[in-house]
Amino acid sequence: MSSVKYITENFGKYDVFSIESYMNIGGFSALKKAITMDKEDIASLLTEAKIKGRGGAAYPMGRKWSQARAVERPHHCVICNADEGETCTFKDRELIKNDPFNLIEAIIIAGWAVNAEDGYIYMRSEYSRFRPRLLNAIKQAEENGFLGENILGTGWNYKIHLYSGAGAYVCGEGTALIRSMEGKAGRPRMKPPFMKQSGLFARPTCMNNVESLSIVPHLLRDSAKTYMKYGVGESLGTKLVSVGGNVKKPGVYEIPFGTTIREIIYDLAGGIQGDRKIRLIQFGGASGKIADDSILDVPYTYEDFKEHDLVIGSGSILVIDERTSVIDFLRYTQDFFLHESCGQCTPCREGNRHIKMFLDKIKAQNHTQEDLETMQTFAKVMPMSSLCGLGETAQNALKSAMKIFPDTFKIKN
Ligand code: SF4
Repeated sequence: MSSVKYITENFGKYDVFSIESYMNIGGFSALKKAITMDKEDIASLLTEAKIKGRGGAAYPMGRKWSQARAVERPHHCVICNADEGETCTFKDRELIKNDPFNLIEAIIIAGWAVNAEDGYIYMRSEYSRFRPRLLNAIKQAEENGFLGENILGTGWNYKIHLYSGAGAYVCGEGTALIRSMEGKAGRPRMKPPFMKQSGLFARPTCMNNVESLSIVPHLLRDSAKTYMKYGVGESLGTKLVSVGGNVKKPGVYEIPFGTTIREIIYDLAGGIQGDRKIRLIQFGGASGKIADDSILDVPYTYEDFKEHDLVIGSGSILVIDERTSVIDFLRYTQDFFLHESCGQCTPCREGNRHIKMFLDKIKAQNHTQEDLETMQTFAKVMPMSSLCGLGETAQNALKSAMKIFPDTFKIKN
């Protein structure tokens, strides 16, 4: 099989520094259509196409836009979360790099649909080399009347601002991202208030991921007809997956939902380097669950993943071959969370440190039954008592490994 081109349709078709070139392939026709539509109809179209947020949480996008617009406070804003920090996740980078005008058009449409006055892009520091092309796209959109005052004669004023992160994984979490933009330490906060009510600078805020937004201009142009031809069941459309690890052709592939994991790993990503065996596969970044090769024929859909106790999350597929042991993989993952925890709540800060300590003991084969039980208690308590998604999901890989690879944890005499 080969990958499809829907969200990636514009890749290579225009000069990413020229709005004229973008308009020659139909650029900004979706915005022109959007301003003629009832705003609730725009959100309904997203709902009809069953689009779920691509950042990881899979929240229904149409519902998010409806809820954001319904908030009766002034000064709404839109944030494009371009802080993709999950391990093995680099699909948004391809959208920013190859189709910046489509993203800007999408952020304008989002602003229109939720009655926003400002749009913001929060982009991870590692992508700073793409700042010039986004700033150029914003400037050219302003010069052509798609941004700024009285956009396309509607009387609507809207600007887009670009912020850069400073490299913290936890700033991909919405409230931490907002605090970082406000000039505070990038640490998550308690909810409520929810950001739709009180987000950036206490303004009603609608936040979407780069991939989620990038779908919108394509969707509007033909009222979702092409999009809905792809996929199955509740998982309509296409998805960008970033495949990495020990595959022959790591990269970003656009697949219709329903493609099997085997097709993604072997047909698109070329199979395993050296034709070795798969040790494990992790889906959705470091916070995702892991599986062995028994799931290769599972279709890549939200429903099938749920049935197999997996989550699509950030859309990454990390393939680890037989050269790496399960315990080394888990130690690496736990090191990552130990480093990235912001440290403000004890279960996450101490839990990650202690789990790493127990994993080191298991690696050294000097662990006890009590160690295993205590480690499991930490893994159980952390999701219940941590303030944000990092502490809630940091033990996902460990918990799934204990089910799938029980021998790894056995106490040897
Ligand atoms: Fe910080 Fe971890 Fe608490 Fe999240 S769960 S707020 S990362 S300490």
